[in-house]
Amino acid sequence: MTNFGNYDPSSFGWKTLATGESFSYKQGMLSVPFPSGVAPGTAPIWEAFLNELVPMIPGGLKIGTCWGQEPRNIAGTSTKSFHAYGLALDVNAPYNGRGGAAPTTPGQYQISKAAGSIAKKYGMEWGGDWSYTDLMHFELHMSPDEVKAWKGDGTTSTPSTPSTATSGTGLPGKVVLGVAGAIAVAAGIAYAVSN
Ligand SMILES: [Zn+2]
Repeated sequence: MTNFGNYDPSSFGWKTLATGESFSYKQGMLSVPFPSGVAPGTAPIWEAFLNELVPMIPGGLKIGTCWGQEPRNIAGTSTKSFHAYGLALDVNAPYNGRGGAAPTTPGQYQISKAAGSIAKKYGMEWGGDWSYTDLMHFELHMSPDEVKAWKGDGTTSTPSTPSTATSGTGLPGKVVLGVAGAIAVAAGIAYAVSN
C-alpha cells in the first residue's frame, strides 16, 4: 500500500469532513453504530475488515464504545487526525487504550495482537503496531482511487488506462477503446470531485 506510513490524508486525495457517511456494523441481531460514520465509499472496506476482526474479539463490539468520523486533531498535535477525514475507527475504546501492549489472548472486548495483520490486508494501519500504542484505533491508508478500485477480497486493482487511440482501427477495437475511455473519464471526474 503506497500510503502506509503517510499521516497526511490530504496529501493522498482526501478532505476533512464535517461529518462522515453513516456507518453501522451488523452484529447478530444488533446494529452497532460508529458515530459519525466514515469517508465516502469506504464503508464496504470497513465492513469486510470488521467481518474478520470482530469474531476475534471476546464479546464482539460493545455499543457506545465505538467511534468513527470526528473533526479533531491527533491528541497533543496540530495535525488533523484520520478521524477528521472519516478514515479511522476506534473499536471498544475503554477496553483498548493507549500505551499498553496488545494481549495475545484477549479478555472481554479486547483486541488481540493478531489485529495488525488483518488491518494490513485492508490497507489499514493499526495503532497497536505504533511505538506509542493506540489499541482501539484503525486507520485506512488507501487513496480515493484505491478505494474505488478495491475488489472486496482484501486486494486492490489499478484501473487500466486506455491505450492511445489510433485511427483506422476496426469497429470492435473502437468499441473497446471507447468503453475504456469512458471509464477513464468517469474516474477522472470522480477523482477531481474527491480532491
Ligand atoms: Zn482513533
